[in-house]
Order: sequence, then structure tokens, then C-alpha cells
Amino acid sequence: MDFLPAYINDYCEKYTQKEDKVLYELHRETFQKILRPRMLSGHLQGQILTFFSKMINPENILEIGTYTGYSAICLARGLKEGGKLDTIDINEELEDFSNSYFKKAGLEKSITMHVGNAMDIIPKLNKQWDLVFIDADKENYVNYYNLVFDAVKPGGFIISDNVLWSGKVALPVDSKDKETQVLIALAKTIDADDRVENVLMPIRDGLLVARKKINM
Ligand code: SAH
Ligand code: CA
Repeated sequence: MDFLPAYINDYCEKYTQKEDKVLYELHRETFQKILRPRMLSGHLQGQILTFFSKMINPENILEIGTYTGYSAICLARGLKEGGKLDTIDINEELEDFSNSYFKKAGLEKSITMHVGNAMDIIPKLNKQWDLVFIDADKENYVNYYNLVFDAVKPGGFIISDNVLWSGKVALPVDSKDKETQVLIALAKTIDADDRVENVLMPIRDGLLVARKKINM
């Protein structure tokens, strides 16, 4: 579901810097060859992620949910010189495809893709994060938030994608599926968490941005 009327979305895309050749091709090849291509972040959200990253200028980024690497490339473009992005996906069939695009983007030295269940891999990554992008299985969103929290630097950001879940989180019905329930639980958890400041942005399918306070 799109929240914005098509003509507004088109206008926003028209006056947003165009995708470069690599992202354009990644977008096209994902739609040609890979299942569920609508999961890819795309032009507008991708550029927003690049901007967030350039504003934060992180040394270490963690991404949970690589898919074909679109958001990883967008986020890595804001890294500090010599900075690194670690990205995790459970689907090993995506590994060669994503890595080929990290190379085309000239980011093969900055991006490391880990294949496996993020719940198992996150505790093994011995780093402190400036920025975490949560975009894998929605059932684990609260688990991911809790699992990464201590490894986020003071002043660091945790951004969760698809938190509006096509609007289902905000519909007044009781029989909500598990994913919707967890996304509501995440919003409540973060809003009640005194250790962070938070804003839910109605961008695309919803970006929930939490910033870990410096003095807790
Ligand atoms: N961030 C990408 C889209 C990610 S789609 C972009 O914006 O372009 C969600 C991805 O999460 C899928 O590729 C799926 O394989 C992965 N995923 C699902 N469950 C997972 C898990 N438990 N651990 C790691 N990755 C998982
Ligand atoms: Ca997403």
C-alpha cells in the first residue's frame, strides 16, 4: 500500500537526485530475477537513507536484512573514511547477487555480508554501532532492538523500517497478525524507553528512528 497519492510521490521523486547507474541496475535486475522485489528500498527511501547516513557520518553501521543490497549501498555511502557496514541476511541465495553490486558500487571493502540468522550473528559481531538499520523478519523486531541496544554508541541511531506495515498497525481491529502485533510492540517499547528519543516518520512504509541518549 502506498500512503502518498501517486502524483505526490512522483513529484517527490522528480525533485530527488536520480538513482545512479549502479542503483538503477540493481533495482532493475532485482525486479527481473529475484522473488518479492517490492522489499527493495527504492529511489526515494534509498536517498533518504543515504542522507541520514551522511548526516550521521558513521564509523560502523549494522544492517539487519540485506536482501539484494540496495539499502546497504545507500547507507554505506555516508560512512566515514575507512568506516564499515556489516549486513546480515538469512537467505544464502542472495549472497553472490548482493556482493556483485557492492563491487559495482566500489564498496566491496566497506561492506561485509554475513549469511545466517541475525539472532545468531548479531551477538558475534564485536563492534559498537553508530547506526543500526533493522529491516529483516518483523516477528523479531523487538528482539533485534533489545539485542543490539547495548552495542549502540551513546548518540547512535536505531532505524526500523516498515513500522507502519501498510497501515495495519493503526487500524482499529483486534485480530492482528503476529507481525503487526510485534511492530506495535516495538513502537510501544521504544516510546516507553527513557534511554532514547524517538520519531516515527511516515516515509514509505514507516521509518521509526530512535536515538540513544548521550547522558542516560
Ligand atoms: N534492506 C533491504 C530489504 C530487506 S528485505 C532493502 O531495503 O533493500 C528483508 C530481508 O530480511 C530478506 O532478504 C530476508 O531474507 C531477510 N531475513 C528474514 N529473516 C531473517 C533473519 N532471521 N535473519 C537475517 N535475515 C533475515
Ligand atoms: Ca524494508
